[in-house]
Amino acid sequence: PPIHLNDPALYKTRSYINGQWMAATDGGTFAVDNPANGKIIAQVSNLDQAQAQAAIDAANKAFKAWRARTGKDRAAILRRWFDLIIANTEDLAQLMTLEQGKPIGESRGEVAYGASFVEWFAEQAKRVSGDIMASPNSANRMLVMREPIGVCAAITPWNFPNAMITRKVAPALAAGCTIVLKPAEQTPLSALALAELAERAGIPAGVLNIVTADSERSIAIGKVLCASPVVKKVTFTGSTAVGRILMQQSAPTIKKLSLELGGHAPFIVFEDADLDAAVEGAMVSKYRNAGQTCVCTNRFYVHETVYDAFVEKLAAKVGKLQVGDGFADHITQGPLIDEAAVAKVQEHVQDAVAKGAKVDVGGQAHALGGRYYQPTVLSNITEDMLCMREETFGPLAPVVKFSDENHVVELANNTEYGLASYFYSRDIGRIFRVAEALEYGMVGVNTGLISNEVAPFGGVKQSGLGREGSVYGMDDFMELKYVCLGGM
Ligand code: ADP
Repeated sequence: PPIHLNDPALYKTRSYINGQWMAATDGGTFAVDNPANGKIIAQVSNLDQAQAQAAIDAANKAFKAWRARTGKDRAAILRRWFDLIIANTEDLAQLMTLEQGKPIGESRGEVAYGASFVEWFAEQAKRVSGDIMASPNSANRMLVMREPIGVCAAITPWNFPNAMITRKVAPALAAGCTIVLKPAEQTPLSALALAELAERAGIPAGVLNIVTADSERSIAIGKVLCASPVVKKVTFTGSTAVGRILMQQSAPTIKKLSLELGGHAPFIVFEDADLDAAVEGAMVSKYRNAGQTCVCTNRFYVHETVYDAFVEKLAAKVGKLQVGDGFADHITQGPLIDEAAVAKVQEHVQDAVAKGAKVDVGGQAHALGGRYYQPTVLSNITEDMLCMREETFGPLAPVVKFSDENHVVELANNTEYGLASYFYSRDIGRIFRVAEALEYGMVGVNTGLISNEVAPFGGVKQSGLGREGSVYGMDDFMELKYVCLGGM
């Protein structure tokens, strides 16, 4: 491995199919780099469509035995996986910062967050139950059973290289499904290390398969996963554009879909807010992972009476963020994932400035060069700016002034997205009114951090389908079966 690991065996560069570490049939690999400096850190197997099909076949073969095991049995195995993830936190965090760039403290936090889904669904695996309904006909008895949906396919993004995997794989396995996972081409090392630990935990061959590929072959493999009649469900986290493609490709087989897509989170600060708390919330919701999360605030709306004070306090804090290589302990913002990400932030900033925005802090590529961008706050924002319509996915906070509650809710809802939203207020009537009026799957009130394993994570409108985590998270991986007993 290109970094020190306590357990070098966690550095894996081959795909994992049917319990075997697989090279590409044609021997091909793709390069993974460190976003902090662009250096190549791994050459990873670049699998083709036939190998993706082999992974589906392996998952299909393993399904019968895996579903037949008791929930208690699957729970014990998942629990061992959780314990191993926790025991190897430092190595998993090191690999994550190496391939993704986030500050090492955030990587450690993500490993704990990712592991929490494995622990949670290990517990939930034991708690699957059906129903007995009161029949409208006295000769019948009516049962509802819950069964695993079958072989699943998962496609995951680079922004949470660990947690986006566990949030899908753990509920699938807990439910008795088997799975083929295609991780993001930017961050396959975290996925493969998780597979190594899954194998050590006793997850049987074929139950969890990891197919790695570059961006081009990922598209081809996506087609195989969607077209296969054996795959009963596709679960995806990523952009809305790719979500639409997967939905289209899944139509011929009427596949069940879970989609966690883009967001455009509004963050509203009312005049009665605790302003310092709002600034704290703004920092975590905007600048965590350098603004590269789908629940990151994209636009701030601040009441006119507290606008200047909020902008000043936020800019002061943002100016203190330490930008640099995520491996250095004091760093609070790492590089962006690639050049395209930097270009998008730059485009949003330049468009806003051209249309009259004021730069309160940042506003340029960082002096470090490469993929670093200055954490930025812009004021005098108007609704016609790009950053008010498109997901920025970077460290830019545009702050809009508003005066009326109804109007700001209307502006907040004026988007095709409906994932996360945030607002700060201390008026209990307003808190209920606004929480109910926001057309979002998730609302943070007086907090900028809402994700955990107990919460149902997901969006409405074009932000997606289904919910992950929580007591509802296994539903997406199960079917209801109605059994009617007649002649009683
Ligand atoms: P991001 O903008 O975060 O990279 P994407 O939606 O492009 O989001 O990528 C998320 C995941 O989807 C990655 O694993 C990527 O390889 C995969 N992906 C991208 N395009 C396709 C496609 N056409 N079919 C299947 N998977 C795809």
